[in-house]
Amino acid sequence: MSTPHNDVFADALKRLDLAAQYAKVDPETLLRLRQPKQFLEVSIPVRMDNGSLRIFTGYRCKYDDTRGPAKGGIRFHQDVTPSEVKALAFWMTFKCAVAGLPFGGGKGGVIVNPFELSMAERERLSRGYIRAIAWAIGTDVDVPAPDVNTNGLIMAWMADEYSNVVGRREPGVITGKPVAMGGSLGRDDATARGGFFILKELEVKLGWDNKKQARRIAVQGFGNAGENFARLAHADGYQVVGVSDSNGALYNAAGLDIAAMLKAEHKPGLLPDPSLCGAGTKKITNAELLELDVDMLVPAAVENVITEENANRIKAKVILELANGPVTVQADGMLERRGVMVIPDILANSGGVTVSYFEWTQNKMGFYWTAEEVRERLALYMRREFSAVFDLAKKHGIGMRIGAYAHALERLGPALESTGTAKRYAKE
Ligand code: NAD
Repeated sequence: MSTPHNDVFADALKRLDLAAQYAKVDPETLLRLRQPKQFLEVSIPVRMDNGSLRIFTGYRCKYDDTRGPAKGGIRFHQDVTPSEVKALAFWMTFKCAVAGLPFGGGKGGVIVNPFELSMAERERLSRGYIRAIAWAIGTDVDVPAPDVNTNGLIMAWMADEYSNVVGRREPGVITGKPVAMGGSLGRDDATARGGFFILKELEVKLGWDNKKQARRIAVQGFGNAGENFARLAHADGYQVVGVSDSNGALYNAAGLDIAAMLKAEHKPGLLPDPSLCGAGTKKITNAELLELDVDMLVPAAVENVITEENANRIKAKVILELANGPVTVQADGMLERRGVMVIPDILANSGGVTVSYFEWTQNKMGFYWTAEEVRERLALYMRREFSAVFDLAKKHGIGMRIGAYAHALERLGPALESTGTAKRYAKE
């Protein structure tokens, strides 16, 4: 189902070229955005529990830091490649720009299957990785966060190790930390909540009113992003008719009982038994879930799930990409031709990095906000940027994806250009 990450990076650059037609940017700016500013490969020696030594390979990419310190997660996965890290760091550059955050883009990864390591080995690996890249990160340089197979505990080890290296406490060097170690309240459901604020704006634009006609939503994925989004939409009166996990999907024409599902016993990321999800719930496949007749489809699991193979069978009017990269470039064009509105990942799931920005800000100030304050500020950012992208897309008669890239370019362009272009020299 997935394409090589080389292709993901090539796809990202294709979208950059398309967006450049709608934003006033110097050709030299585009040239600079086609390459990362810095790419590190490090080796990480780790003493294993049995006394042997294993050397792991890690990467950290600072794609661009013109608008602020680079920002982006660290993943632990056996399939991590330099080109994947580069593509993800490129996306972060655009995501931070589209969300209006004073950050550039970065990403990191270690080639490892963390589930083969003991907890103590994972801790030594996490600390070893940070020792290897410590000179290249920092609160005002490059700020990592969790990503695939890394979490708050790993961020706590990494932040602690960074403090050991530099000889002072510097909590703002990493976000996604546990609240007890300087993490922000409201980070746990920030990605879903950000997507939900977009839904509330969209509701007004499209004239949706659940009191007159309950709108139907399908959510692929029941992990952090998908489960929380289903909870918020259900509590707001939406009919969440389908949800899925990696094993399959559940469907209920009258709407699943999401509140009961959340109370029911289930492993993180996996669905409870269908008998606990509302009368009439039945099992369907993940492929069927994507093709349900719904108002909104929310891919919140993995990349490349809507492709040229199934794009013409998608019946949703709107796709809200909580996952990163769920729709391929080829599928994008097909959906646009059929009038399906796609709210792109760099905008739709930017609630997560926005609250990471709030965490960084609170760490720098040493002054902490209530969960309510975090939510109010998140709403402000999501509403403002969604409306800006919506209006820009409407003005040019283009889709929201290219609109979002163009909106990001309108911020990246002037920042890069103010650091110097040939045109500027020619004027002087
Ligand atoms: P998660 O690990 O908590 O949950 C993933 C969910 O997807 C699980 O329910 C899992 O069962 C399901 N899944 C896995 N493989 C699947 C498959 N092939 N088909 C259908 N379902 C499958 O992950 P998450 O944090 O919720 O992240 C989900 C997506 O959202 C990812 O693309 C991630 O990059 C993106 N995202 C998450 C955040 C965040 O803050 N959590 C922020 C930005 C983007």
